Amino acid sequence: MLTYFYNDLLFEVYHFISQSNILILNKSSKRLQIIDKRIDKYINQNNDDNMNNDNMNNNIDKILYVSCRDNNIYILLRLIKRYASNLNYDYGLDGACFGGNLKLAKLMIKLGANNWDCCFTSACVNGNIKLVMLMIKNGANNFNHGLKIACGYNNIELVKIMIKYGANNWDSGLSGACRYNNEDLQSLMIEKGATWCSYCENSAFCH
Ligand SMILES: [Zn+2]
Repeated sequence: MLTYFYNDLLFEVYHFISQSNILILNKSSKRLQIIDKRIDKYINQNNDDNMNNDNMNNNIDKILYVSCRDNNIYILLRLIKRYASNLNYDYGLDGACFGGNLKLAKLMIKLGANNWDCCFTSACVNGNIKLVMLMIKNGANNFNHGLKIACGYNNIELVKIMIKYGANNWDSGLSGACRYNNEDLQSLMIEKGATWCSYCENSAFCH
């Protein structure tokens, strides 16, 4: 069975997916042919859609990102099966972090993803603590940025983690808290020492 796979990447995927999903990877059914056609069409179309991510240079990056973000295992496996050597797995990791999918994030790391800081931001936005910790464990260290996001999304558990790891830009945290009007976190940031809020363009004293 394993000799079917033509390189190490797919070998890793084999260990990740369930037996039933191996069919998705290998089989040639009408449904899968339709998926393959749709992927090919999207990859080859002009890169002019309105997906708001300037970091993505081509359509194949977008498909990888979205399939991991939305946990679309069909698209993902067919993409890996047919375009493995063209994929930048950082986009998959970013999508998995944004979508809160720990299992797919681990797969993308196994396949070579290592843009920890970018994916750390997405994990913080999602708020999945296990994903955030996975990024930190691997080297992400922009804790002040994480603090601002955590304040913005009113994620107190994440705020505590960022502070524990050394975040101390209270002004930035305050502006995050104000952006979404989180009063408890506004108070915490002021208590910690925030003096100025760039979101309100006002001193902490006036909050
Ligand atoms: Zn403010």
